[in-house]
Amino acid sequence: MSTYGRQDVVFERGEGSWLISTSGERYLDFTSGIAVNALGHCHPKLVAALTEQANTLWHTSNLYRVKNQERLAERLVAETFADCVFFCNSGAEACEGAIKVARKYHAAGGHPERYRIITFEGAFHGRTLATLAAGGNAKYLEGFGPKVEGFDQLVGYDLDAVAKAIGPETAAIMIEPVQMEGGVRVVPDEFLRGLRKLCDDHGLLLVLDEVQSGMGRSGKLFHYEWSGIKPDVMAIAKAIGGGFPLGAFLATKDAARGMVPGTHGSTFGGNPLATAVGNAVLDVMLEPGFLEEIRQKGLRLKQLMAAMKDEHSDAVEEVRGIGLLAGVRLKAEFPAGDVMKAATAEKLLTVSAGDNVIRMLPSLTVSEDEMKDGIARLSRAITALKKKA
Ligand SMILES: *Cc1c(COP(=O)(O)O)cnc(C)c1O
Repeated sequence: MSTYGRQDVVFERGEGSWLISTSGERYLDFTSGIAVNALGHCHPKLVAALTEQANTLWHTSNLYRVKNQERLAERLVAETFADCVFFCNSGAEACEGAIKVARKYHAAGGHPERYRIITFEGAFHGRTLATLAAGGNAKYLEGFGPKVEGFDQLVGYDLDAVAKAIGPETAAIMIEPVQMEGGVRVVPDEFLRGLRKLCDDHGLLLVLDEVQSGMGRSGKLFHYEWSGIKPDVMAIAKAIGGGFPLGAFLATKDAARGMVPGTHGSTFGGNPLATAVGNAVLDVMLEPGFLEEIRQKGLRLKQLMAAMKDEHSDAVEEVRGIGLLAGVRLKAEFPAGDVMKAATAEKLLTVSAGDNVIRMLPSLTVSEDEMKDGIARLSRAITALKKKA
């Protein structure tokens, strides 16, 4: 179906930060499959884990215990706030599951009337019917029938407005701690701490969507760690499988009290292949120094981007982000889509976001030289656009 506005290029090979097209041209990949190929293309440890598993066992369903899945769950629990994990195959499913956990929590506590979830304008939670309603993007909801009930969306990050929006039917507050599709907007830590307090005061669950901000990209394994708070429920996906489809939602034991046998399921979720790769991703990310290195690279990227902004102060409005999730907000005369295309012409892959921003999501294994190269290519792309104008 013609649901995508694709760029006219086909890749046949990937090596680290580079993608090689069918015509043999090398592109520097600062998209990473939308924050999926966090360890670059064809990382040898991931290739080894996947091929070894492929020669052993692919799939058994969740009718039986799955060894790799249990191990991955134990490790995620050890590294986070969570006590338990449910595995699925995508970010939308992870968010959908997180929403179900929040609703079921109150039903199990004798309050099925508490099903409403407070959400924030500019968020993206996926393309299923419930996650579309949670995201609230009118363009994406258009033509798909009545919007799923139960989401109260707020504009901006105003704690008083959140407090006012909490009613007797409110179950949870759901937020993307960095709005990625929305334009790489980092939610202030103060605001997250305020939400945590409101949830505690009103018996609500705090649900985080770290599908894109999680798995090392911010310089912590999960972005919420910067704020010092802990959520009750969290959706993850994208980089957890390093390119193999894998998602999960995590919860505390208390938050998951309603998720008893029979309340949720997935045929493919957490199968031996996917969780073999998930474990290999964690093997790399949990190596001592790996996250610290991302923080260092993030600072370097910020410097490079700031210098580029100075050079192009007539085109670049702002540079934003944390760690290796970065955004360049352009002035209105330079639409992000045009800049993205001009960058592709310079053999640099980026992805546009809301708020006239282009996202720079290099692999977490990117080198200093590759970062310099990437920013130089972006700079050339902007220069080329100026000449055209
Ligand atoms: C990508 C994304 C999703 C949806 O993930 P899919 O795998 O495309 O279903 C949900 N939330 C956030 C924050 C995302 O970035």
